[in-house]
Amino acid sequence: MWWNEATIAIDLMKNLENDIFDQIRHNISEKIIYYEKYLFWYGTFMFAVLAIVTLLTIFTLIRILKALSILIVSLGKVKDTQNFNVHINTGSNDEFSKISHSINNLLDYTDKIIQEKEFLATTDLLTGVMNRRSFTAATQKEISRNTRYDTPCSIIFCDIDLFKAVNDEYGHAVGDMVIKTFANTLQNNLRTNDFIGRWGGEEFIIFTTETDLESAEKLAQKLRKKIMEISIEPVKQVTCSFGVAQRLDNESFEDLCERADKALYKAKDSGRNCVCISE
Ligand code: GH3
Ligand code: MG
Ligand code: MG
Repeated sequence: MWWNEATIAIDLMKNLENDIFDQIRHNISEKIIYYEKYLFWYGTFMFAVLAIVTLLTIFTLIRILKALSILIVSLGKVKDTQNFNVHINTGSNDEFSKISHSINNLLDYTDKIIQEKEFLATTDLLTGVMNRRSFTAATQKEISRNTRYDTPCSIIFCDIDLFKAVNDEYGHAVGDMVIKTFANTLQNNLRTNDFIGRWGGEEFIIFTTETDLESAEKLAQKLRKKIMEISIEPVKQVTCSFGVAQRLDNESFEDLCERADKALYKAKDSGRNCVCISE
């Protein structure tokens, strides 16, 4: 009797134990499924965030490197070509566009300064024509071109007659005005390919390309008449003497100038307001 009751109690306890184990197993497996799902979505989310951050970092780095490379290449070009008249565009709308904007301002300023220096170094400030240095450089170039194509070229020296008397009588300011008008008159009556420079004081020099002695002399006579037509109050009339020379084969610029200068002195000695040529 007691045996049966003990067996029933043991069986009940056994069943209870099984039920408890089943319950625990069930709970644990539910928890495991829950955490598995949680871990999966959390992992996926973290992976997506990491991927987005990585992509953004790569994209930003590429953009920075691209903008930097544009800046470096553009500044390298500026240095190599010495051309400051350029505008750098990084193609971005961020700090780099601000940097390129500042660099562009700096380039503009440098270009302006260079142009001003270039102008001051090459131009006669009173008349606006080339100064002696830039005239000589331009003539050397043109002489090489004329030699290459075997075409004649000539130079004309022109010097205002008795200019000292103009200064003495009317003052330096009027004298300056006469020099200015004189230079403009010569310049306005030249062909586009010919050019003029101020040799010094009231003496000017003209280079006439593809022009032989006869044509250069004709041009000098035309200019002499034009000068006589100008009137600069209160100066009554201005006249000018001319010395003309055609460049000989292989003649240097200095030797050519010397011959034209001698012709000019001949014109002064011949009573002024005339044209003399160097044969
Ligand atoms: P010539 O017919 O022999 O050339 O006589 P000239 O009086 O023209 O020559 P000279 O060389 O004796 O005098 C040139 C004068 O030009 C003297 C100088 O003071 C004046 N002169 C030179 N440059 C300038 C200038 O920029 N402005 C003014 N107003 N006068 C100048
Ligand atoms: Mg003179
Ligand atoms: Mg003179």
